[in-house]
Amino acid sequence: LTGEEVVIATERVVERRPALIADTAPADCPFCPGHEADTTATIDTVNRGGTWVARAFPNRRPVLVVEEPLRASADGPFERVSGVGAHEVLVECPEHAPLHHLPLSRTADALELARRRLTDLRGDRRLRLLQWFRNHGVGAGASLHHPHAQIVGLPVVPRRAAELAHRAREHHARTGRSLLRDVLQAEERDGRRILWREGPITALCPFAPRHPFEVWLVPADPGPGLADARDDELAGLAAGLVRVARAWAAALGEVAYTAVALGAPEGQDPSGLGWHVRLAPRLVVAAGLEEATGLTVHAVPPEEAARVLRSVPLPVP
Ligand SMILES: [Zn+2]
Repeated sequence: LTGEEVVIATERVVERRPALIADTAPADCPFCPGHEADTTATIDTVNRGGTWVARAFPNRRPVLVVEEPLRASADGPFERVSGVGAHEVLVECPEHAPLHHLPLSRTADALELARRRLTDLRGDRRLRLLQWFRNHGVGAGASLHHPHAQIVGLPVVPRRAAELAHRAREHHARTGRSLLRDVLQAEERDGRRILWREGPITALCPFAPRHPFEVWLVPADPGPGLADARDDELAGLAAGLVRVARAWAAALGEVAYTAVALGAPEGQDPSGLGWHVRLAPRLVVAAGLEEATGLTVHAVPPEEAARVLRSVPLPVP
């Protein structure tokens, strides 16, 4: 009735999430160095001093797999497409400790690996939407403590991603300007929701946050996807990710959070949505009102969130 898509990934249920969830010690952690054989085969690594500092491999319980042939079928009003796609895990550092407790170089190297994997996956023309995300903490759905991010590549552009791209293109057709850049300029003029600037990246609390204390990291002139990030943008993004997590920790205590890089679907013209990263602490559980109305409801105005986050000593990334 809504046109919204759902992924049914039976593998994930059948195999059952392992008992070694969340509080795994380094000795039992499949993401710690020395345990490479406990994961699927390594696709790519970033190395420093002869050892890996970031490592990518296929998700053991993928929601989608590249090997599957793409099949589409209709069944009355229903449409089905086979689970073709990519789902990779990126271990973001060798240490079994939160990234924002580690030197900034760890996050920078992890993002370098992400950019390389996204660029490589672009070669598979079946993948129409490539997105990077990180779940940090049990409350954000992370199944292991060891810092890791994920990349999904989808054979279809889900409704919400298509809507984001459509609105950006429509704005560009009407005004000749980038919607994301117009939003950024309006925020800079107003200033109340701006947190800081780090090179070409501005950190801000969005005007209509879906989550309390949500923060966006917005490049001044982004390309369509994180794969297009320039070196200075990637450096500013690394600093931003660390700084936001440290600011939240100082203001709210250590929180579970999600970070997602949103961008345009593959193969779209550059007048569409530019990439940016949205971070949100997972403080509230969506419930009936949200389900009934599609609205999200919370108690923290973005101006107040920005004031609180600015009031903690600005953490050095
Ligand atoms: Zn570990």
